[in-house]
Amino acid sequence: MLDNHLLWLIKGGRVLDPSQGLDQVGNILVKDGKVAWIKKHGAATSPPDNCHTLDAKGLIVCPGFIDLHCHLREPGYEDKETIATGTMAAARGGFTTVCAMPNTNPPLDNGPTVEFVKRKAQEEGVVRVIPVGCITKGRLGNQMAEMAELARAGVVGFSDDGSPLADSNIMRSALSYSRSLGLPIINHCEDPDLFRGGAMNEGWVSTRLGLKGIPTTAEATMASRDIALAELTGGRLHLAHISTAASLERVRQAKEKGIRVTCEVTPHHLTMSEDWVLGNRGEGSPFPPLGAGAYNTMAKVNPPLRSREDVQAMIQGLREGIIDAIATDHAPHSHVDKLCTFDEAAFGISVLETALGSLMTLVHGGSLPLPTLIARLTWAPAQLIGSDLGTLKDGSPADITILDPDAPWVVDTSQFASKGKNTPLEGATLKGKVMATMVAGTFRYRDDKLKMEQADG
Ligand SMILES: [Zn+2]
Repeated sequence: MLDNHLLWLIKGGRVLDPSQGLDQVGNILVKDGKVAWIKKHGAATSPPDNCHTLDAKGLIVCPGFIDLHCHLREPGYEDKETIATGTMAAARGGFTTVCAMPNTNPPLDNGPTVEFVKRKAQEEGVVRVIPVGCITKGRLGNQMAEMAELARAGVVGFSDDGSPLADSNIMRSALSYSRSLGLPIINHCEDPDLFRGGAMNEGWVSTRLGLKGIPTTAEATMASRDIALAELTGGRLHLAHISTAASLERVRQAKEKGIRVTCEVTPHHLTMSEDWVLGNRGEGSPFPPLGAGAYNTMAKVNPPLRSREDVQAMIQGLREGIIDAIATDHAPHSHVDKLCTFDEAAFGISVLETALGSLMTLVHGGSLPLPTLIARLTWAPAQLIGSDLGTLKDGSPADITILDPDAPWVVDTSQFASKGKNTPLEGATLKGKVMATMVAGTFRYRDDKLKMEQADG
């Protein structure tokens, strides 16, 4: 067990808190689970007696990351992940709050199942878990779930994620309810008829590999419909994991018109293109010969990895704020789910533990400023769920992530806390590492290399 004290001084780190436009070297005092104060480094500070000190020199200290979209798989699919392992993976990835998607078995379509997840998270989770409720009963898409009951049970939004909500009438009703409940409808936008049987992005790679493609239009058409229904109802629409330049354009236009729409993007849609299915990690010639790494089931995900142009559009949209937040869509699977042909393999990537490392390639490559990246992982998602988290303002809960932006490390899935070892990043060297994660003043993860000392008063 990590040592826990009521008083921590996190000293000399670069404190980066977009919620208050803070970016300076400073000291943070954590007291009774809350941020007591932040002071400029070198300012006359007198930390109280019995205060433990963590040396954060050369490190970034920021609010804990908030993940709007992850799959913890419990109840029902404990072979893939549990609330215990999933939240441990979250802590190692710098996430202090995760929103758990309801495509479990049974699905979270009523109060008691939501209560179950909350209780389990309290008993076995190491970070905060906020459940998302289903839009329809059993996620079957044909009858509304008891949304008011789910809201009372404490869900943060509604989604049939894993399946798109195809019925336009139900979507219309759900958005109307979302307006009175003040909670967003989170849709996985994908026209089921255009998707049918698809395994990867439709394009030259799918043709080259002889796999059935999923056109970008499958996402864009449903995004258009949802935006039109949000305009009609005045409801709150949040588009999950958008992946195409075409959907992004529709969100941009909707925001300009004042329609209540927000959206998120995953780390993989910001950093990986369809080339990864060929096994070439998006480097070199766009038309390489087929190598042994082709048909990489680890790169099978839904929505699929898109073209290099779509990836660039996602980065641009995130930088401009058209895309509000980064969400992992952490989708752990067991070995057998991926140890098969590409067509048979399950969709999904285990993301929580590699998210920061892969996102830092954008910062190191100069395409995304670090403060923007941190904002999209902290303050922005907090705003979307109306939370008082995602900030280091005095008096707020001490949910804090400490990271080394330059530390190189090699992805080794045997070391993952997540049961899901399904990532195409296995063996990759990433630059940027989470060093510690604190939830409400308690360290939930800490790298051995961090320097600690006990103050002698
Ligand atoms: Zn989804």
